[in-house]
Amino acid sequence: MQYRLVGDTGVSVSALGFGTMRYTSPENAREVIQAGLELGVNYFDIGSAYHWRSPEENGETWVGRAIAGVPRERMVLSAKAQPRLGEARVEMGLSIHTRDQMWQCIENSLRRVGVEYFDFYQLWDMSADDHFAAACEGQDSPLQAMREARDQGLVRHLGFTCHGSAEQAIRWLGDIPDFRICTIYYNFNDRASEEIVTYAREHGVGIVIMGPLRGGILVGESEVFGRALPELAGVPVQEVALRFLLGTDGVTTVISGMKAISELEQNARVAAMAEPMTADQRARFMAAFEEFTHGEGLCTNCRYCAGACPEGLPVSQHMSTYQLYEIFGMTNMATQIAAMTGNMDPGLCTGCGKCVEACPQSLPIPRRMERLKEIAASLERE
Ligand code: SF4
Ligand code: SF4
Repeated sequence: MQYRLVGDTGVSVSALGFGTMRYTSPENAREVIQAGLELGVNYFDIGSAYHWRSPEENGETWVGRAIAGVPRERMVLSAKAQPRLGEARVEMGLSIHTRDQMWQCIENSLRRVGVEYFDFYQLWDMSADDHFAAACEGQDSPLQAMREARDQGLVRHLGFTCHGSAEQAIRWLGDIPDFRICTIYYNFNDRASEEIVTYAREHGVGIVIMGPLRGGILVGESEVFGRALPELAGVPVQEVALRFLLGTDGVTTVISGMKAISELEQNARVAAMAEPMTADQRARFMAAFEEFTHGEGLCTNCRYCAGACPEGLPVSQHMSTYQLYEIFGMTNMATQIAAMTGNMDPGLCTGCGKCVEACPQSLPIPRRMERLKEIAASLERE
């Protein structure tokens, strides 16, 4: 297992971390966590609302039972609570917007996991400006409690997890220098967050990648990877996806919601590689795919086109799927294309160009919609 420092915190984490949201049972959690610890996995992303059944039966208590007796210094634990305005559900760590609520969340998390401190405590899914306001603005804010808990040694470092834009995440990291870790969504097909990784690297902030396989989509085989980089011929897509991430300068660790030992072992094998993808390989990999678009460019899933389509088409979703199938050669995306029916039908595109105006790269979206339509028709004929 390779280990990396989380920004400038001095904390060393394994290149592969535990996402703890997909276990099938407390027994499954224990089995995977124990096996992972043996393989050197030490980073845990723990969520209060995962597996929620009751205050005694939830993702935190499952992890707590699985790690009971493990020396605390063998593990790097990160817990979290979600900032939102509205009615707070403090037990679950949801819709937290006051100092007192956050204090209760931190105390609940410590008790349920059964530890005396967390290495990291993160604002969970801080993805819009009103989430930031709920978390960080005013004297009575959740951030105030996080700072107090840090001053008392109950939490070592603060951060946030984010599905928002790169511009927002970078602004928040700049506004609140206390944030030393940031958990984001990023993969070779969805590269809009790349700017966050660069910013974090330059400012001593650790980057945790969630959803490295895009919710289980980046799997299977593609002949095209070998054309982009001959040394990747025959390597499964999931391994390429992990190698790409771990080869990205600034990425600290990749968390995966592993529930099978085989999955854990495959991921751990990649995370043990000293050079999963060199900077030169990574650059050649992306350059090749840019070339496969004939210079038209790759959709980064920045979502600037969100809401632009008068026909209500989810443009970024369609462009992303198009790209995985047509450019990255992932034939298993055919199922998703075949499911584009009703108000998702790419045939609804009138070619008005509103989405192109919103797209920073002016991608030829109507033409790609047309191509999706053709693919869907050919799949139907098969
Ligand atoms: S060009 Fe097509 S996809 Fe783009 S906004 Fe117009 S109808 Fe929607
Ligand atoms: S189509 Fe353009 S605007 Fe829409 S997500 Fe992709 S790159 Fe961004």
